[in-house]
Amino acid sequence: MRKLLLSAIVALSPFTAFSQGVPNGWNDPFPPHKIMDNMYYVGTKELASFLFVTPQGNILMNSNYDSSVPMIKASVEKLGFKFSDIKILIAGHAHPDHVGGDNAVKELTGAQVVVGRVDEAKTKDFHPEGKEHPIDRLVDDGDTVTLGGTTLTAHIMPGHTRGCLAWSTTLKEEGKSYYTFIECSLNGQFVQTLDQYPGILDDFRATYKKALTFPAELWVSSHASFYNMAAKYEKLQKRGPGDPNPFVDPEGYKAHVAQYEKSFEAALANPAPARGGGRGQGKGKQ
Ligand SMILES: [Zn+2]
Repeated sequence: MRKLLLSAIVALSPFTAFSQGVPNGWNDPFPPHKIMDNMYYVGTKELASFLFVTPQGNILMNSNYDSSVPMIKASVEKLGFKFSDIKILIAGHAHPDHVGGDNAVKELTGAQVVVGRVDEAKTKDFHPEGKEHPIDRLVDDGDTVTLGGTTLTAHIMPGHTRGCLAWSTTLKEEGKSYYTFIECSLNGQFVQTLDQYPGILDDFRATYKKALTFPAELWVSSHASFYNMAAKYEKLQKRGPGDPNPFVDPEGYKAHVAQYEKSFEAALANPAPARGGGRGQGKGKQ
């Protein structure tokens, strides 16, 4: 458990407060909602999980913390779907707030658990005590996951973790198709607290460039706050006939990439307080 707690702070501010290993508020419930077509939000207030509903069963992205799974299940059921219809679970990156619930989802659904090959070893660090992380399939850049007419393509976006995976697909609404991009994480604003590996800084810089090569129209991310989910949900509630889908936000995507590139470079230029002696102490405190 100690190891999980320490690992749980990766990518967080050194000042984040925790409750039972979860940053305060991250596991609070949030209304599940349809994003577009067969894609739904079933995550918590901060930890994003997405459900793709198909005639041959459903795909879930991100199990979040082990303690998030009951909330994800409740959200799936609130939308009128069965949790046991989840056939495939896909991951973004090997941090406990995104893959810590894989065991619980596997136990409840029997779903095939798909993770990125580069993040495999790290992913195995996250599991409830005494259990082994259930990995069924490893994917590389460009590999696809297909079920019931829905295909998701993996894109490696290294930096936040070495094997960070974004996923893309195409969704339709009122006769139009939208390139849909599910970000991994571009968060390097606390880069000194991430797992360091040779080339991490070059990877981050290349990933910010690569991020702009995707023609993202509809976009979401692993954390609700990364894509202003709450504000977009508000707009969704008020959406009238003819109003645009608030999750279609290509300019917001470009601004997001620019913002995170800037905060990453700022963290490198001004590393206090998370670096050096402070880094270890900061981890210990949380
Ligand atoms: Zn992360």
